[in-house]
Amino acid sequence: MTDSKSASAVAYLDHAATTAMRPAALAALTESAVELGNPSSLHSAGRRSRRIVEESRESIADRLGVRPSDVVFTSGGTEADNLAIKGLFWAAVAADPDRNTVLVSTIEHHAVLDAVEWLVDHEGARVEWIPAGINGQVDVDWLAERLARDASHIALCAVMWANNETGVVQPVESIAAMCEEYEIPFHCDGVQAVAWLPEPARWRSRKSSLAISAHKFGGPVGVGALVVNGVTPHPLFHGGGQEIDVRSGTVATALIASAAAALHETASNRSIEVPRVRELSQRLRAGIATVAPESVVVGEASERLAGINSVAFPGCQADALLMLLDSVGVACSAGSACTAGVPRPSHVLLAMGVPSDQAQGTLRFSLGWNSQPSDVDALIAALPAVLERARRANRGGSRVAAGAS
Ligand code: PLP
Repeated sequence: MTDSKSASAVAYLDHAATTAMRPAALAALTESAVELGNPSSLHSAGRRSRRIVEESRESIADRLGVRPSDVVFTSGGTEADNLAIKGLFWAAVAADPDRNTVLVSTIEHHAVLDAVEWLVDHEGARVEWIPAGINGQVDVDWLAERLARDASHIALCAVMWANNETGVVQPVESIAAMCEEYEIPFHCDGVQAVAWLPEPARWRSRKSSLAISAHKFGGPVGVGALVVNGVTPHPLFHGGGQEIDVRSGTVATALIASAAAALHETASNRSIEVPRVRELSQRLRAGIATVAPESVVVGEASERLAGINSVAFPGCQADALLMLLDSVGVACSAGSACTAGVPRPSHVLLAMGVPSDQAQGTLRFSLGWNSQPSDVDALIAALPAVLERARRANRGGSRVAAGAS
């Protein structure tokens, strides 16, 4: 196990939640954190910080194949998604009050879903849901028909680049092209995808935006960006007018420098790391298939990110499995959200049509840039006993007391 991994977990298989900081990102963070100037100040200390921010912006833009002036730094993916969804909706309605309908896929992260629902509850928005199939992909034929019927009321369309639970890559290039044809802004949540996919501009159309978050590609928590192309969202925050008046707030020099270093290292190592992680994922799925032949890989037939493996264990509850695995040092994530102690199957899996009992027993094992075969092997070694206990608990209708922290 490398130094940068979680000290408590024997096997950290939750890189899609947050991954380890890359060495270059840590170095950039500590180097820039001692810079004193506010990048908006005019004195030389401020100008030094401004230079760090602008060089970082250029580096990130270069990696994403966009112009530096299109990169708007935010506090992370959630803010970038909120800025896009609310800001593009407000901009559309300000230009034409009849454009109040949002088209959004059913498999989005809550950063998008809840922003849309907030608009419905508070701003008079209408929402139409783009369905997804059992393969984990959104239905582009549905979208094509919907747009052909009447696109005149649509404020924006939002579909993520790759899903955070299943890893399934979405047909964003076709969706961006359709939105361009009907001149509708397209927002793409690229938070999970940018670390893994080599084609940085698949999401781009003449009016589009992309959300990214540094802690998903080896940077620090608390910094991300909304990349805009031909759109200007109305701001969520009002204040100093930083970030082209779209995102006020003192610009976080050290976090931004660290994010740029992380993305640079990610892109430079991608051709080696992606096949290595893909192979580890294969080892993981083969190992699970051996010890749990009844398990089902979600979205197996679709193109998926190299590191995300969503696996259903019929006859088990995901929260029980998660706690039992945690008690033996294996960290993973449930495909379900636990609200007030009541486990609910994930909205993503249900939207795909995964049967509820299967969705209730689904775990996500996500690998990252520094994952090792020993991480996978620790999971496979632990699984038989964990599955046996979880099945027994499920049959007896009892909750598992795993002694997890
Ligand atoms: N969008 C997706 C697809 C995510 O997976 C996440 C985080 O899990 C977010 C948005 C939110 O990003 P952040 O944690 O930077 O707020």
